[in-house]
Amino acid sequence: MTTTIKRNILLNPGPATTTDTVKFAQVVPDICPREKEFASMMKQLRGDFVKVAHGNPSKHTAVLFCGSGTINIDICLNSLLDKGKKALIVNNGAYSSRAVEICQYYGLPYKDLKSSVFELPDLNEIDKVLRENMDISLVYTTHHETGTGLLNPIRKIGELAHRHGAMFVVDTTSSLGMIPFDMVKDNVDFCMASAQKGLQAMTGLSFIIGDEAIIRKSKDFPKRSYYCNLYLQYEYFEKTGEMHFTPPVQTIYATIQALKEYFEEGEENKFARHRRVYEAIHKGIEELGLEYVVDKDIQSGLVVSVLYPDNPKWDFEKVHDYCYERGFTIYPGKISTTNTFRLCALGQIDEEDIKNFFVILKEAMEIL
Ligand SMILES: *Cc1c(COP(=O)(O)O)cnc(C)c1O
Repeated sequence: MTTTIKRNILLNPGPATTTDTVKFAQVVPDICPREKEFASMMKQLRGDFVKVAHGNPSKHTAVLFCGSGTINIDICLNSLLDKGKKALIVNNGAYSSRAVEICQYYGLPYKDLKSSVFELPDLNEIDKVLRENMDISLVYTTHHETGTGLLNPIRKIGELAHRHGAMFVVDTTSSLGMIPFDMVKDNVDFCMASAQKGLQAMTGLSFIIGDEAIIRKSKDFPKRSYYCNLYLQYEYFEKTGEMHFTPPVQTIYATIQALKEYFEEGEENKFARHRRVYEAIHKGIEELGLEYVVDKDIQSGLVVSVLYPDNPKWDFEKVHDYCYERGFTIYPGKISTTNTFRLCALGQIDEEDIKNFFVILKEAMEIL
């Protein structure tokens, strides 16, 4: 294919900048996804997702869904809680707050252990809550809180959950495939992501990677949703190799290409590249005299929340539009108490793109 597509640098927290080869992987002959050929592609895809999370192939499985990343949070919470049991949400950010809202919508028993969005959760507090609430069977948190850029200590939280006999479910949407993660060593029973973030594919495909034995056990848990039930989707995959309902066909082709590129680049090289981008972002904001809000030693290395500059003429929209017209997308903040914007290190970008971006951002700030 010789067509060239304008390359935009997305500094928003996903969807991310993709390669042309991933974009073009979607241009394929029409196919009915009920064909065997398609089912065998999905089998391989499920195995590869388990590999990305360093799951154990004889213990863990991946279940795919058609939807954005939030569908995973919804599914895990509504499907994995048995009757009479409670979920503990370790909540220090916008995405764990979303999990709390999902519990509320389903009327699930939950405890919202809320703490500052700028700090790590208190492990002693988590331990205490687990000791005092024997009916908690599911501990939930967000690995990388994309709203602030904070990275949670999941390995330690998972250890506490397991010590008290609870399963550990983690939203890894904005970390999987980008920073070191190993679901076995990190004590994670269920993790999740969608194709357009760490894997640099397209929107519309989400997946949950988790413990097959627990999924099988959840067969007897209350069914709270028809479309969004983990066991039902798992069972259908096991029986037929297919998604229960129509899959996002073209996105699946793009994801297969993206995974090929992921394994070719290599996990370590990819981590290093995201890190370079992140360091370049920090260098750039420091040169402009801008400040970040979360202590650097608890940042994920993927999202930098930047304070609005102390300039009465600052206008985020104007700066955004100036950058956008020149191919760079910046993103508003997600912290209710502070005015911030976000610069993210996701996607197929490198240091050089960030250097180019800061030339434009500097111009934008000068002509305000
Ligand atoms: C992006 C993201 C999601 C999913 O958001 P969608 O808009 O539904 O794709 C969930 N959790 C985290 C931590 C995220 O960064």
